[in-house]
Amino acid sequence: MLDKLKEIEQTALAALESVKDQAALDAWRVAHLGRSSPVMQVFSGLGGLSKEERPVVGQAANKVKVTLEAALAERTEAVKATALAKSLEEDELDVTLPGRGVRVGRLHPSTQQLRLVLDIFAEMGFQVYTSREVETDEINFQALNFPPHHPARELQDTLYIDAGERGDNPLLLRTHTSPGQIHSMREASSKNPENPPPIRIVLPGMCFRSEQITARSEVQFNQVEGLAVGENITFADLKGTLSDFARRMFGQDVRTRFRASYFPFTEPSAEMDVECFVCGGVGCPVCKQSGWLEILGCGMVHPIVLQNGGYNPSRYTGYAFGMGPERQLMLRYKIDDIRYFWGNDMRFLEQF
Ligand SMILES: [Zn+2]
Repeated sequence: MLDKLKEIEQTALAALESVKDQAALDAWRVAHLGRSSPVMQVFSGLGGLSKEERPVVGQAANKVKVTLEAALAERTEAVKATALAKSLEEDELDVTLPGRGVRVGRLHPSTQQLRLVLDIFAEMGFQVYTSREVETDEINFQALNFPPHHPARELQDTLYIDAGERGDNPLLLRTHTSPGQIHSMREASSKNPENPPPIRIVLPGMCFRSEQITARSEVQFNQVEGLAVGENITFADLKGTLSDFARRMFGQDVRTRFRASYFPFTEPSAEMDVECFVCGGVGCPVCKQSGWLEILGCGMVHPIVLQNGGYNPSRYTGYAFGMGPERQLMLRYKIDDIRYFWGNDMRFLEQF
């Protein structure tokens, strides 16, 4: 029996020599260590042996089994190493091939323009103040001197939110960034009602109007608004700040002019034009032959608005202004259709 075990071991080890891949390894394991392999049959035959033979044969069979298992493990490692070497050799990697390009994202043109405006005002000491897009009628209109049913509301077709019966104070999507003026003033004045601190902020963000979507009007657009409130602020400060902004934005030599205008929340109100940067003021289709481009609206904060923000209008004054980044881009790049901005057309967006 011991000779037979020796033979089983030698046969198995000899067979293992010719094993070259994983499939052959599996087959070898079944044949030589599997349930019905010769060595396992020796184990199952132990019961038929004499008391004296049993431990001797059992021990010898166990030794063969351990030897074969060790040989299998060793062979498995060798086969793996060979396979790896082979695959490295065959699937050679050409590191000189150019890699696949990574598509780099970019900021939306409106965001780029918005940040340009914010950077300029940040240099002049303005802080950015962001405010909610869903507003109440009270903050979006009434506190800004648009009483209910006031005809000035006609200028801002409004998207209302169905939020149940709220009387004269329905919820709406803000039609301009100006409600942020009320939030910021109330925030500052509530901390120190007797002596509210001065304010110098820019308010950027998306606004919404119930407009028919055409080449010239969209239901959503960005606005940047500015607000300065304090003691002894005059129209001269407004003109100086905005003229300086125009020079930083459009070039040191750009000329500006102010025209009287009307907004409910400022008094007096004005619109600022810059010299047409397409034709240099000579006259062209972009400036409609006038030589001037209107770029923002502005004015001195209306006393009622100051009061609604918690600032005593007999002591405090302020100025405010607002502009549209999309309009500035349209002028600068002669974009003739505002719908490009939110149309998600990559051919448009990738140009910026
Ligand atoms: Zn022009």
